Amino acid sequence: MNDDNRVLIAGGGPIGYTTALNLAKFDIPFTLFEAGEEISEDPRAATIHPPTLEMFDTIGLTKIFMKRGFVTQNYHFRDRKQGLIADFNLGVLKDDTAFPYRVMLEQHKISRIIADVLEDYDQHEILNNHTVESVSQDNDGVIATINTPDGLKEFRGRYMIGCDGGRSNVRKSIEVDFEGFQFEERFLVVSTPYDFGQHGYAITNYIADPEEWCALFCVKGPDDKGLWRVVFPIDSDFTEDEIFDDDAIEKRLQGFHPRETKFTVVHRNLYQVHQRVATKYREGRILIAGDAAHINNPLGGMGMNFGFHDAFNLTDKLNKIWFNGASEDLFDQYERQRKTVASEYLQAQSIENKKNLERKNQADREKFFDELRGIAADDEKQRKYLRRVAMIEGVERAASIS
Ligand SMILES: Cc1cc2nc3c(=O)[nH]c(=O)nc-3n(C[C@H](O)[C@H](O)[C@H](O)COP(=O)(O)OP(=O)(O)OC[C@H]3O[C@@H](n4cnc5c(N)ncnc54)[C@H](O)[C@@H]3O)c2cc1C
Repeated sequence: MNDDNRVLIAGGGPIGYTTALNLAKFDIPFTLFEAGEEISEDPRAATIHPPTLEMFDTIGLTKIFMKRGFVTQNYHFRDRKQGLIADFNLGVLKDDTAFPYRVMLEQHKISRIIADVLEDYDQHEILNNHTVESVSQDNDGVIATINTPDGLKEFRGRYMIGCDGGRSNVRKSIEVDFEGFQFEERFLVVSTPYDFGQHGYAITNYIADPEEWCALFCVKGPDDKGLWRVVFPIDSDFTEDEIFDDDAIEKRLQGFHPRETKFTVVHRNLYQVHQRVATKYREGRILIAGDAAHINNPLGGMGMNFGFHDAFNLTDKLNKIWFNGASEDLFDQYERQRKTVASEYLQAQSIENKKNLERKNQADREKFFDELRGIAADDEKQRKYLRRVAMIEGVERAASIS
């Protein structure tokens, strides 16, 4: 494809692919550049929340996601010593959403499903091994400098959407600050086929502890038999060798769930975690979405969902501009809507989710546990609480911003 009348997309992660499929459905030509050789299988996001299921339903993917992943209506808040504190039931949201549950589906599987669907569409190209180095713009469009297997090349388009993750070159090209902070501790993610479900755990569990909280959730894994992931906080003074040491990992797992036999560990990954929001999402014809625009800790499983909401919001507006003569001011509305909720909901809620797990003072912890028990025991209180946690409020708030 060699046509300037197209959208350039940087990044073939879940948000880049979702942006791409929406454009394909609207019949808007695009070129997607992905730095990697193929879709990354890094074990990261897996939770899909109700409003995201609603959005994907409009493009026919939700049923596929439900078939390929686990559909789960409840999740647990637990204490490491006391066990179950509150069993939250998303069923109370039945009048708020057509999808009152979470679907657990690994992010690389989401991207693959979308890549397969894209094969039925023309007017686009997906170029792996193509890194967007920088992007600039003039009155007619954008010019991206791409590092290709044959050296540096320039590509032109009408707009650029940067979905190139937390270290986004697109964001850097438009000199936007990425305001926020980095947590001192890193997050270790360990995956094991050991079935924690037999001990009464839900598919998703947040487990509080003043010394070592953890999060435990189950995905289908490579063979669809189930793979449990445990997320632990790791003090900054440990070296990677110490963290990844087999005995150290076994000790962490045994500390959380003692058993006589050793755990089989199939993945171990370490993540540096930040809370940041870009100060601008738009500079002229250049826009950013997903982790390029906001990053947060993974507790609550919201980052990717938020990026999907960006992608649906932005492509809907782009369609109106491309075909219906709408003003590019709509891009400013995209920024107002999505940036506002990134601060008010994504950042606020994910920071709170972490605090709730790591509280140290026993009296505070007990008070908080009682609050959670009270919420879970009362359908109306639970509905109010889950509307926020399940991201419904954030979508409604964004829609209310003109
Ligand atoms: C341990 C962990 C668990 C998580 N769990 C959840 C969860 O359950 N639910 C949830 O909603 N979120 C979760 N998240 C967050 C989620 O993984 C991210 O929000 C999501 O991956 C963002 O998608 P993205 O497409 O914006 O960016 P990415 O997934 O980072 O994809 C960016 C893509 O762009 C490519 N790229 C980068 N730079 C360039 C360039 N210059 N040119 C071309 N290509 C480039 C990369 O190779 C990559 O393929 C979790 C994160 C972590 C670390």
